[in-house]
Amino acid sequence: MRLLADSSKCSGCGACLVICPLTHFKNNNPTMAALTVEGRFPAPGGYKVGVCTQCGECANVCPSGAINLDEATGVYWVEPELCTLCMACVDVCPESVMFVVPGVPFAIKCDACGECVKYCGPGVLSMSPPLTPPTTPPLVGEGKGERWQGERLTTPPPHVYPLPQKPAAFPLGGYAGTILRVNLTTKAVSKEPLPPKLAEEYLGGRGFAARILYDEVPAGADPLGPQNKVVFASGPLAGLFVPGAGKATFAAKSPLTGSYGDSNVGGHLAEELKYAGYDVVIIEGASPTPVYLLIDDDKVEIRAAGDLWGQGAMATEKALKDRLGEAFQIATIGPAGEKLVKFASISHDFGRQAGRTGVGAVLGAKKLKAIAVRGSKSIPIGDVDRLVAVGKAMFQACFDSPARQVWQRYGTAGVTTWSNEIGAFPTRNFQSGQLEGHESLSGEVMRQAIVLFDKACGLCPVPCGKYSHTRGLYVEGPEYETTAMLGGMCALTDIHDVAQANYLCDELGLDTISAGSVIAFATECFEKGIIGLDDTGGLALQFGQAVPVFALIEKIARRQGIGDVLAEGVKIAAERWGQGSADFAMQVKGMEISGYECHLAPAMLLSYMTTDIGAHHNRSWAITYDLQVGREKVTPDKAAKVIELQHIRPLFDSLGACRLHWVELGLSLEHYAPALSAIWGREVTWEELLKCSERTWNLTRLWWVREFPDFGRAYDYPPARFYRHKVTGGPTDGAVMSWEDVQKLLDMYYQQRGWDQNGIPTAEKLRELGLKVNK
Ligand code: SF4
Repeated sequence: MRLLADSSKCSGCGACLVICPLTHFKNNNPTMAALTVEGRFPAPGGYKVGVCTQCGECANVCPSGAINLDEATGVYWVEPELCTLCMACVDVCPESVMFVVPGVPFAIKCDACGECVKYCGPGVLSMSPPLTPPTTPPLVGEGKGERWQGERLTTPPPHVYPLPQKPAAFPLGGYAGTILRVNLTTKAVSKEPLPPKLAEEYLGGRGFAARILYDEVPAGADPLGPQNKVVFASGPLAGLFVPGAGKATFAAKSPLTGSYGDSNVGGHLAEELKYAGYDVVIIEGASPTPVYLLIDDDKVEIRAAGDLWGQGAMATEKALKDRLGEAFQIATIGPAGEKLVKFASISHDFGRQAGRTGVGAVLGAKKLKAIAVRGSKSIPIGDVDRLVAVGKAMFQACFDSPARQVWQRYGTAGVTTWSNEIGAFPTRNFQSGQLEGHESLSGEVMRQAIVLFDKACGLCPVPCGKYSHTRGLYVEGPEYETTAMLGGMCALTDIHDVAQANYLCDELGLDTISAGSVIAFATECFEKGIIGLDDTGGLALQFGQAVPVFALIEKIARRQGIGDVLAEGVKIAAERWGQGSADFAMQVKGMEISGYECHLAPAMLLSYMTTDIGAHHNRSWAITYDLQVGREKVTPDKAAKVIELQHIRPLFDSLGACRLHWVELGLSLEHYAPALSAIWGREVTWEELLKCSERTWNLTRLWWVREFPDFGRAYDYPPARFYRHKVTGGPTDGAVMSWEDVQKLLDMYYQQRGWDQNGIPTAEKLRELGLKVNK
């Protein structure tokens, strides 16, 4: 038998790299995997999977005859007693999958156990039938290998090669146990122990970020000044054998909203940071000149990046991979971050974005062009056997989901048709909920027209990422939100146009959600005569026209002309242009509303109104509940559902895992507490996890209270379009919320949250959560 790999199917999830060492070493370290996965981007090369082909070259060169062929299976195996660790086999292995591990006194090679095959979602890996022994002649050299006549064992060694136990550095498994602090003003780099209480109360990711930033960024600090800090954090699940456990958080005081902001990114940063030995990176101060941060296990350096400044985000990622090596995971900003565009993103993995709240602008203000991280350490696990059992059940549940095929084929783009059918596709700046011609933006059309292959975040068995090609450009996407905001909002109906706009935003470093919103807003202002050709620099804006959209993306990213106004976000642009335009500046708390029209979806609207970072869909995607119980209803259960979702969904961001396996594939939430219990090595209940999430939610609310002396109910009001302007066209034609219902939603929500009628958390609620803050 031998392992076969069809690299053309690989989505890069790396589940094989984790299950292999878990099986053989009870350790999750991918550097101990007997196979490799290498990305080849941005060209369409995709991934290259290296596996042991049982070619026998290792046996041929082995000078001590330690590598034997098992005639029955055709698998070569290493005889521990005879191995001298001379490394000849490691050097000669044509696929670079033989290796040695500190603490294990013999070389390791693939034994064709087949565990990786079972957990390879896209079906890259398979097992061949038993082989006849190779007939190729042995290599000429010193090796004895096949010709060695000494005494041999007859039974292959066991699958599991236990490593020596190290004393636990941190009381809970799943953490590296270290905070890395980097001051760009002084160039000081320091390492601090992660406080166990922080892990117990805030779990990781966004929870860590909210707490650390609240404690360390002074009230009133300029988001683009050196007092602001950026937290880059992983969570306890990240990098471990749990589906989708590859999510990292970037957070800072947001230049877009003036309060706490965070954004979540998939890809492979989260696990790499932990493999390097850190749970959190705190970036403070500001460099006078462009730099990038290199984290290579214990080596941490601030390096000059003058040659990268001005380059696109993906071009920078490629340049750094060429310079440092493919194994480095890179986060970078584009020109928009450098120009301090208030909704600049942080880009990673050639198309994944920490898009929201302007975290890219905060890096730009610090002149930090990129972070490059590579790690080779193991993540401690409390109870490996239990984690493997729970993880296998979770992976299997994803594989068995009836929704798997559709999800994997279309990803979030599969939502586009549904969203139009129910009138939730934001069209022409939320004037309608259905786009004429939306069929040409569907997941099916996209798959056929532009998609090259599927692409996953770390440990994801069901890749939603679609790597696409159009007009000579390579882009990951467009995913649903991008299609909604650059397609529906701008009334573009050609998937190639949307993909091109997506590419421009990604390369220039703009959040596609906010970019689509500000462009739609400018277009409506132009069509209504609020702004004219003098304002746009001669650009005629019109819904449905792609060329002005491309031009505005460029102008915003470079802050040229009208782009300098739009770069401030839709709220500031409306203040600048006036004439009632604030009514249709589609934002809450300064952040642009994402891709669900909700004139007739009160729970979804309430979700946008109350999201802690400004209007964003992923904190509480409640529109399906509106559909389930009646769209027109404004009832207490809707507030209750929004609160429930606001605790569940962001919890994933604290744990460091993707929520979509639960949302789209129906993976039971009941798996997560056992998974974390196994990782921690200590029992934790789902209720305790939800309490951590509620604690973080209340803390982020307190950010607003601290930053804005007049903070209260008015900050939660939606744009007037939802209660003054009726929807035109589509299945919700004529729908509009009433002002009374807006108030009723907030009354119900505040009351159920245990906040006062102005939306401020009460002292009693803070006591209940054990939440202590300095005023
Ligand atoms: Fe990444 Fe989640 Fe999509 Fe998987 S489902 S590729 S983890 S975003």
